[in-house]
Amino acid sequence: MRSPLRVGITGGIGSGKTTVCRLFAALGIPVYDADYWAKWLVEHDPHVREAVRTLLGDEAYDAEGRYNRSYVAQRVFSDPHLLHALNTIVHPAVERHSGNWHEQQRASGCPYTLKEAALLVESGNYRSLDALVVVTAPEAVRIQRVMQRDGLSEDAVRARMQRQMSDVEKIALADYVIVNDGHHALIPQVWKIHRALVKRYEDQKMQREPV
Ligand code: ATP
Repeated sequence: MRSPLRVGITGGIGSGKTTVCRLFAALGIPVYDADYWAKWLVEHDPHVREAVRTLLGDEAYDAEGRYNRSYVAQRVFSDPHLLHALNTIVHPAVERHSGNWHEQQRASGCPYTLKEAALLVESGNYRSLDALVVVTAPEAVRIQRVMQRDGLSEDAVRARMQRQMSDVEKIALADYVIVNDGHHALIPQVWKIHRALVKRYEDQKMQREPV
C-alpha cells in the first residue's frame, strides 16, 4: 500500500482548525492532533520527561509524576530562551511520533493524513509535509471566539496571539487557505481541497505504477 500524502493544517488561535478538521474527519481522513500529543508525550515519554527535567528542574513534575503545567508556563513564558529550549525538546518528539502515526495509516488506504498543529510553521515541522492548509479568520473574530470558548479576557487572548506568527506569514507558505470568518461556508472549501488532494494522490500513484 502506497504511503498517503502528508498534509498539515494550521492557523492562529481561534481560527477554527479543530472545527475544520472535524469536517475532514467526516470525509474519512485520519487527523493527528499535535497539540494533544505534545501534552501526552511530555507526560508519558521517558526521554522527553528526562530532557524536560534536565532543562527545568524536578519541579517540572509533581510528586505523583504529573507534568506541572502552570510551573512550566510561568518559567518559559517569561524567558524566550527557555521557551525555545523546551520547544527544541517537544517539537522533534512530536515530529517522530506523528511520522510513526502517519506510517500506521498506510494500511487504511487513505489518500492523505492531516496533522493539526497551532505552531506547525513556527516549529519548522511544516517542511516535512507534502501540502499545508492554513485556516484564517479576522483577529477580532478569533478573539471573540476564544474569549467565549475559554472564558479568557481579551488581553489574555492577545498575549497568546503574540506568541504565534501572523496569518500573513503563514498564508505565504500555504498550498490551500480556508477562510473561516463566519461568512464563507466551510463545507464547500473543505470539499474543494479534499478533491484536489485526492487527485494529487491519484496522479502520483499513476506516475509510479506502470499501466
Ligand atoms: P485553538 O488554536 O485555540 O485550539 P482552533 O483554531 O482549533 O483554536 P476551534 O477550536 O476550531 O479553533 O474554534 C474556536 C471556537 O470558535 C470554538 O468554540 C468553535 O466552536 C468556534 N468556531 C469555529 N469556527 C466557527 C464558525 N465558522 N462559526 C461559529 N463558531 C465557530
